[in-house]
Amino acid sequence: MPHHQKYKAVLLFGCPGSGKGTQGVTLAGMPNLFHLAMGDIFRGLDKQSPIGQEFLSYSTKGLLVPDELTVRVWKQHVQALVQRGEIRPDYHILLLDGIPRTPAQAELLRDCIGILRILHLVITNVDGLVHRLSLRAKKANRPDDADESVIRKRISVYEQETSPVLQSYPAALVADINADQHPLAVLRDIADCLSRCLPANI
Ligand code: ADP
Repeated sequence: MPHHQKYKAVLLFGCPGSGKGTQGVTLAGMPNLFHLAMGDIFRGLDKQSPIGQEFLSYSTKGLLVPDELTVRVWKQHVQALVQRGEIRPDYHILLLDGIPRTPAQAELLRDCIGILRILHLVITNVDGLVHRLSLRAKKANRPDDADESVIRKRISVYEQETSPVLQSYPAALVADINADQHPLAVLRDIADCLSRCLPANI
């Protein structure tokens, strides 16, 4: 991809339990959206490689990977997909999930992505969310969500981490989506938003 061109992108933000995973997977089935989740990209690295080892040294401590390394891994991953013809930059819109996660990452990506829309899944019913996550923890055996205080901590970490990133973009790009609704209603609102702002070249 020539340097002056930017990848078209939609950013997906949402706290743990907001339904971001469900929506991301569903939207990934749309013809011209290409879903890229940074956590998946990291987990897909060869664990024996130096970069794979470095990722593990942070993630196993619950820390974010440093910004420069994160963006480098992301760019290499995207370039490889472009070279293999899986991403066609003139056709695909990248649906970014989990990146940028800090204002510094937003800055490092500024020259290479053109942001069409930022979808912010907003939960206001935190008690309902905590209840849902603890039920899910019991069903899916996810110990990280079993303890209510841990859930509340993860939600507050998300809020602290995300609001500065959202604030680093023009407010007009951000679409607040009511994520307290049924997943189908969330999907309807996202589809309504994207169908009005994305190019119709499919
Ligand atoms: P989680 O919600 O537990 O953070 P993710 O799948 O989003 O799960 O990410 C898994 C791990 O990968 C994170 O804990 C972090 O170490 C790393 N990671 C993912 N995205 C980023 C990012 N944008 N910047 C830095 N580290 C990241």
